[in-house]
Amino acid sequence: MSATDRPRPLLVVADAGARLVRRGLVAPGDAVRWDGARVVVFRRGPVVCELPAACVDAPSRAPYLPRDSQPARAHPVVHPGVRRCAPRMTLALHNTLTRRVEPFQPLAPPRVTLYTCGPTVWNYAHLGNFRTFLFEDLLRRYLEAAGYDVFHIMNLTDVDDRTIKAARAAGTTLRQHTEPFVRAFFEDRDYLRLRPAHAHPRATESVAAMITLVRRLLDSGVAYQGDDGSVYFAIDRFPGYGRLSRLDLREIKVGARVASDEYAKDDPRDFALWKKAGPDDDAVGAAWDAPFGRGRPGWHLECSAMSLHEIGTRFGVQTLDIHAGGVDLIFPHHEDEIAQSEAATGRPFARWWLHGEFLNVRGTKMSKRFGNFLAARDLREQGVDAAAVRLLFWQTHYRKPLDFTDEALAAAGEGVKRLGEFRARLLGEAGEGGRGTGEGRLAELAAEFEADFRAALDDDLNAPQACAALFQLVHAGNRALDAGAGGAGAALAALDRAMAVLDVLPTPRAPEPDMARWIEAQVAARERARKSKDFKEADRIRAALRARGVELEDTPTGTKWRVV
Ligand SMILES: [Zn+2]
Repeated sequence: MSATDRPRPLLVVADAGARLVRRGLVAPGDAVRWDGARVVVFRRGPVVCELPAACVDAPSRAPYLPRDSQPARAHPVVHPGVRRCAPRMTLALHNTLTRRVEPFQPLAPPRVTLYTCGPTVWNYAHLGNFRTFLFEDLLRRYLEAAGYDVFHIMNLTDVDDRTIKAARAAGTTLRQHTEPFVRAFFEDRDYLRLRPAHAHPRATESVAAMITLVRRLLDSGVAYQGDDGSVYFAIDRFPGYGRLSRLDLREIKVGARVASDEYAKDDPRDFALWKKAGPDDDAVGAAWDAPFGRGRPGWHLECSAMSLHEIGTRFGVQTLDIHAGGVDLIFPHHEDEIAQSEAATGRPFARWWLHGEFLNVRGTKMSKRFGNFLAARDLREQGVDAAAVRLLFWQTHYRKPLDFTDEALAAAGEGVKRLGEFRARLLGEAGEGGRGTGEGRLAELAAEFEADFRAALDDDLNAPQACAALFQLVHAGNRALDAGAGGAGAALAALDRAMAVLDVLPTPRAPEPDMARWIEAQVAARERARKSKDFKEADRIRAALRARGVELEDTPTGTKWRVV
């Protein structure tokens, strides 16, 4: 194929395209074209990738934009029935590095690499931890909704001072002690509707990468072996130390060391990268052989090694687009992560640092230490709908402390119920007689809502403002429905797009067996009425079901119902 008859590079608008980038089959800069069930990649000649059938039928979310093609000359391929969407460049996020809200720009759009510090699985994660994970879920979902192809890494800290201490106290091994808490974390994650990370590396399974990183730091002279046998990072040999936490560098005591994973901001010291194994470490199976002595990694080292390993092997980069965590991690954890990573690679470690504020209970930071500890599973066992927890958290900006009270949770529960009822009304309208499609007051309200919703979240994830827009839609939308307005289909679609980000619709409840039998009988009676063209009777049955909180959806395979 000569250069002249080579097809021009086209834009690919497809989920599948984004997945190919992620798998490394396509690199930023390649020209890519859809060809039926195949993606054709032009590098030094065409490379054809077969797509799984599911990808062909459901294209489009994140577009893949060849770096060297000019959008003005390119021919976008738009799949039928699919809204084309390019990453919006209007999102601005607060960067702890600069203490400013800055326009977000990833290294190689549409890809965004996101690393979030995961749980330390020495015990159940508490709701304060989950506030951080929920803010990160909002960040990830909004990036995805905005057209980015996010690769989310969340580690599991299954070896550190606390896990070893807890395993020792329980008289068991590290693995045996942490495994149930890993399972519990995934259960809690699913209960709270957090999108699973694409990679969940475990510290104990990433020790080889940690040893390599320590080796590099020793070779470059920023690390040294102390007389206690452990390896330390010399903070005075890394000029950028203290940049993230705005540390007063005069406080640095040259040569003073700390072996513990956690220490205070007013006492910065050389910190442990690799701790020489002690009897407790060996007793619980938390010691590994390394060229610089048998030992175990420091907590800070773990995150640097796992994140650099993931993005290095998958994407060939050494800089994360976003690193996120709770504000309590800024010092020393994230400060130390930056020092280790940048001293080893010579590259910026993360372009954006995002930090979420604490969850307070009775005005005090929730923690086991203060005895005001609440686990996610406590709420689940009390029958609290996860949607209410999510809505409660969205109603305070992630950079402001949030007070958790039963009253606030109950109010959020009411809000969730109202949303569910509003959606059921829209679905009822949109599904019948075509009244919901096309123009109408509801379509206008939906367009206003979507503009407000985006403007709010574009402004450093202002979820409280986004929720205000949402409930404005519910209020005005209900009045428009009362007045028989059209456009319910457009409103339903807008609501569902917002729900892909906030995910606060009520969890469908399973009815009692008697109730389920009654519903089935009513659905069958409605089906008979529809077959004999008695639409009045069919509508009456539908209304009777709706009055009892049963939502119907007519599908090609029959009528489905759920209790909301
Ligand atoms: Zn971390």
